[in-house]
Parts: sequence; structure tokens; C-alpha cells
Amino acid sequence: MMQRPPHSPELGSHHCDCAAAHWLQGWLHAPGVQHLPSPNFGERPPAACIDLAVLHSISLPPGEYGTGCVQQLFTNQLDWDAHPYFNSIRNLEVSAHFFITRQGVLWQFVSADARAWHAGASHWRGRSNCNDDSIGIELEGLEGQPFTPAQYQRLGWLLGHIAQAYPLKYLAGHEHIAPGRKQDPGAGFDWPQLAQLLAATLPAQTCKNLHWP
Ligand SMILES: [Zn+2]
Repeated sequence: MMQRPPHSPELGSHHCDCAAAHWLQGWLHAPGVQHLPSPNFGERPPAACIDLAVLHSISLPPGEYGTGCVQQLFTNQLDWDAHPYFNSIRNLEVSAHFFITRQGVLWQFVSADARAWHAGASHWRGRSNCNDDSIGIELEGLEGQPFTPAQYQRLGWLLGHIAQAYPLKYLAGHEHIAPGRKQDPGAGFDWPQLAQLLAATLPAQTCKNLHWP
């Protein structure tokens, strides 16, 4: 499951330097990747096959970027009284494994070996409870709206690293695994652009075996 780091992380540049990235107990270590452990996680079922990446969109308050509120939500630090919208999500305990800001900065909250709380009631590729055996990736944004080039770059880079450590076979949006209940990331997410990026970065065989929504 784990890779040995070809170089020590401190030798990496601030660019996306794939050679400097490595996994350690489900945490992705690479220059510029921020680790902020969330208490909102559990164990995966024994022998869970982590073959699905679920894409989401989130911003707090909705449509406002760079506020730090998403990081606060995922670590149970959000001040519920700081904005009227927060009242509608009061006491929510959620998390995703990863969060990609509009600038392409990557945050990790939960080890990919553990079960993050991002999907809720869900069903995909014949299996229910997608939290059990998926990796959740939040893109900072507003569902239905476009995402930034920096986010696609970082997402492609991240999925490439996930595919090296986990048997990634399926990609889906939250809207696909919880239809009728969820609508993120929505129509503004450019799946063909992601497919192009992955074709350029993933090994051909991995790419060929990927199932798209
Ligand atoms: Zn979602």
C-alpha cells in the first residue's frame, strides 16, 4: 500500500513535484499539502476495497472562498453563530479526506486508510454506504458553478497519487452516488477535462480501467 519516498520531503520544491510525494499511513506527504486532522472519522470495514473517489463541492458561507470556514467545519471548530447560513448546518459533524482550494492548495483531514464522513446515504457500483470504501475529495466551489484550472491540476495530481496507493477504479460525484439528495459538484464540473488530465498523468492501464459516472 505504501510507497517509499524517493526523496525526503524537504528537498521538494513548491511546485507539484511528484517525486517528492509519498504516503504514510494514509496521509499524503508532499510539499504544500496541509494536514489538519479531523475527529470526524471511523474505521473502515475489514477488507474494504477502496476503489472509488467521490468528488464534492463546498464553500462556506456558500459562494465565499478562502474564509477558512470549511477547515473549521471539518474539525468541529466552526462558530455556528458567525453567519446566518451556519444555523442550517449547526452541529453537523462531517469530514472529507481532501479539500482543494480555488488556488489548488490541498488540505487533508482524514487518513485515506480511515472512513471519512462525506457521502451519507449513498449507493454506487452495486455497493451502499460509500463512506466505507471511498475517498472523499471536496473542491472549494459552489455546486453548478465552474472550478479553477489550479483545482483541476491539483485534482489530477491527487488522483494520480491515490491510484498509486489504492486500487482506484471508479470516479463519481456526490450527485451520482446520492441522486435526488445531493447535487454537488454539479454541472459546472468538467468531467471531460478531468479525463484529459488523467490520460496525461495516469499509467495507460489504470486510465483504461477507470469507470466514469
Ligand atoms: Zn458532497
